[in-house]
Amino acid sequence: MTATTTPATTVTVLRDVRPWGGERSDLHVADGVITAVVAHDPNAHASTTRTPGTTDPGVVDGGGLLALPGLVNAHAHVDKSWWGKPWVSYGGEPGTQGRIAHERAHRDELGIPGVDVTLAVLRESVRTGTTAVRSHVDVDLGVGLRGIEVVREAVAALGGAVHAEIVAFPQDGVLRRPGVLDLLDQAAAAGAEHIGGLDPASIDRDPVGQLDGLFAIAERHGVGIDVHLHDGGELGAFQIELMIDRTLRTGLQGKVNVAHGFAVGQLAGSRQADLVAAMGEAGITMSTVAPIGAAPLPLHALRAAGVPVGLGTDGIRDLWSPYGTGDLLTLTTQLARLSGFRYDEDLVTAARIASADAARFVGREVHDLVVGAPADVVLVDAENVPDAVVRAPRRALVVAAGRVVARDGELLV
Ligand SMILES: [Zn+2]
Repeated sequence: MTATTTPATTVTVLRDVRPWGGERSDLHVADGVITAVVAHDPNAHASTTRTPGTTDPGVVDGGGLLALPGLVNAHAHVDKSWWGKPWVSYGGEPGTQGRIAHERAHRDELGIPGVDVTLAVLRESVRTGTTAVRSHVDVDLGVGLRGIEVVREAVAALGGAVHAEIVAFPQDGVLRRPGVLDLLDQAAAAGAEHIGGLDPASIDRDPVGQLDGLFAIAERHGVGIDVHLHDGGELGAFQIELMIDRTLRTGLQGKVNVAHGFAVGQLAGSRQADLVAAMGEAGITMSTVAPIGAAPLPLHALRAAGVPVGLGTDGIRDLWSPYGTGDLLTLTTQLARLSGFRYDEDLVTAARIASADAARFVGREVHDLVVGAPADVVLVDAENVPDAVVRAPRRALVVAAGRVVARDGELLV
């Protein structure tokens, strides 16, 4: 089976696809939104039934392929990749601090931040089916807010092929770099959807101070908070508890995310269960990049407690690490393996984490193959969703906001 499209890129009907591996269906699209999902009618919109000269260029044949919603990258750093450039050998010291210093020393040589580097990694992401991204973008005393402007420009240049929300990210620390809180405030005032934080205890050595500063800005501007928390064990759990307290106090339920949160996977028994329950009650979300070697997050417990989990790539081929391709479906395979998933329903859960269930990570009420959702669709030649998750086959067709943006693994924008 192969997907075929007409030359036009704006879709009015995506015919003969199997949403989530279900019955063959036709998806009707208008203004970039799914307006109807109906049982596939072999006689409707088929080229053989068209009167010559009246063909509808917006009818795209899905060839009976499996349809998933566009993939959602809930944790990216699209401002700092060297994707598409000659190989860059890693030369920094080990550890978070070593990587931060290495990046600050060498990013200018790679043109980071720059529209071209961001476009390169975004285009590769779109090609592999990602249609929405929450990206952290470095904000620091060196680049100021320039990275955010660069990412906005790159996203705009793709003309709707990818939807992006931005986290103004203090990669180099907050309180330890006087002036960064002001930059985050300016970023929020200028439209960044979220402000970030970084290991309030181990980087700033003042968890209460950093979090109080972030929550004050978020409260003032109504933006979200998304904190990188590598600190493990009880130190990490303590900081999550600080975030829970402040979320409840400021009424920011649903707008606060813990990224990585290795501590949650490391805690045992009732300590883990109680923390997960408290996170659910406070409307905290979590994002993971499914890192090899880390204790897996308790995905089922988190979801049962009402803690949405998003999946992200983290940095892709950057000055922190040469790894990563931007292919979120391949990363979904990794998430499933790290989680020990083998039952079909668990593999479907992994696919949902990478797509429909991540709607709120990109500011959407709904992101699914349903009426009212953005027409973001990925077609793959797979028997069912579990098969797609474990094999991550080539993306046969990618539709974003109702436009065909990639076909047979080739980018069209
Ligand atoms: Zn990150």
